[in-house]
Amino acid sequence: MSVIYNRVALIGLGLIAGSMALAMRRRGLAGEVTGYARSAATRETARRIGLVDRVCDSAAEAVQDADLVVLCVPVGAMGAVAADIAPHLKPGATLSDVGSTKRAVIDAVGQHVPDGVHFIPAHPLAGTEHSGPESGFATLFENRWCLIVPEGEVDAGALDRLRALWEGMGAHVDTMEPDHHDLVLAVTSHAPHLIAYTMVGVADDLRRVTDSEVIKYSAAGFRDFTRIAASDPTMWRDVFLSNKEATLEILGRFTEELFALQRAIRIGDGDHLFDYFTRTRAIRRGIIEAGQDTDAPDFGRVKPVE
Ligand code: NAP
Repeated sequence: MSVIYNRVALIGLGLIAGSMALAMRRRGLAGEVTGYARSAATRETARRIGLVDRVCDSAAEAVQDADLVVLCVPVGAMGAVAADIAPHLKPGATLSDVGSTKRAVIDAVGQHVPDGVHFIPAHPLAGTEHSGPESGFATLFENRWCLIVPEGEVDAGALDRLRALWEGMGAHVDTMEPDHHDLVLAVTSHAPHLIAYTMVGVADDLRRVTDSEVIKYSAAGFRDFTRIAASDPTMWRDVFLSNKEATLEILGRFTEELFALQRAIRIGDGDHLFDYFTRTRAIRRGIIEAGQDTDAPDFGRVKPVE
């Protein structure tokens, strides 16, 4: 593939930035990739493993002459980082981000964007429970969606170029309106994470009275929750604080459904439970048909070699 941006700057050097850097390198999508992270320790690790072409000691230096700058920091830090780099952005450059919520990022970052810079927010729907500069991998975005979430009119050429970059990294790209994005993600990602955190918290309370049996005999359902609940606390704190309304709306609906199922169990309404589980099973099939997960047994987990 050919170079799409001569210079790309990644601010924040964790899972997402690291995966972008490796994916861009593998496909030759950027002439040079610079990077900056808040702590000297992260910058040092990124240098040691050669994550980007040049690790800089300030965000201002990293964005110098960059054609594309991508904010890859937790959502709550985006506004301050944008204010810091704004005076150093090249006219004509594109400023993007990978934040998991979009309305709050647009409000926090948008006000700092100088005239002549194209602000085009985005959100790759790909991740793992791992974080930090050593957790990235080049194939993270392959066959995953990346939503580009512009507010109002944006330069068509700049948008096409950003789309080409994400497609080059293996993603399918769609555009979406910011508030709609936040509602969709509240259902598909944010509320499920909160439910997983809660379930693991309940199990942890119970563990004290069951003498660690919850962990020892942990079965698939609970194990899957614990993987999600191991996700980065800073990132997820910021997600909930910045997507408050949509998450609360979905959790309200969730609570109503939970009460209905609770009642069905109490009164022995097996038909209600059966019909409900039949409907939800069809949703799982839809996800597999859409190519967003595997039909392999045990969620595709590789069995350890005996
Ligand atoms: P991560 O692995 O924890 O990395 C975050 C990076 O941001 C670290 O390099 C950290 O530097 C840096 N950082 C934090 N605060 C900063 C600040 N104030 N100024 C400069 N750098 C700062 O996080 P991630 O998983 O890559 O997530 C990054 C973004 O992607 C978040 O907005 C998240 O919502 C979004 N996202 C995540 C996922 C996912 O599943 N993980 C998926 C899609 C989108 P230090 O190491 O020096 O603290």
